[in-house]
Amino acid sequence: MAYKHYIDNNRCKGCGLCVSVCPKKVLELSSEINTKSYFPVYQARPEDCIFCATCCIMCPDVAITITEEIEDKPKQPV
Ligand code: SF4
Ligand code: SF4
Repeated sequence: MAYKHYIDNNRCKGCGLCVSVCPKKVLELSSEINTKSYFPVYQARPEDCIFCATCCIMCPDVAITITEEIEDKPKQPV
């Protein structure tokens, strides 16, 4: 089963809560500002993400979502 981790840069206020709770140290704060003049979080090490969803739960601004990716099934032969 595949999952997708998405961070909405423009909702993030760079509080760093998600960075501190991530058990795999996937997240870091960017050195570039977003449209609200905050330094938003980004996935510095996406390959280490275990999709535990702790960051999504902790974010007070609901800036992080994890969705399950639906894989296209090949069509059955008629
Ligand atoms: S889902 Fe878990 S492992 Fe992945 S970035 Fe969020 S807290 Fe870290
Ligand atoms: S907890 Fe939310 S608002 Fe705070 S840095 Fe992480 S994504 Fe941004």
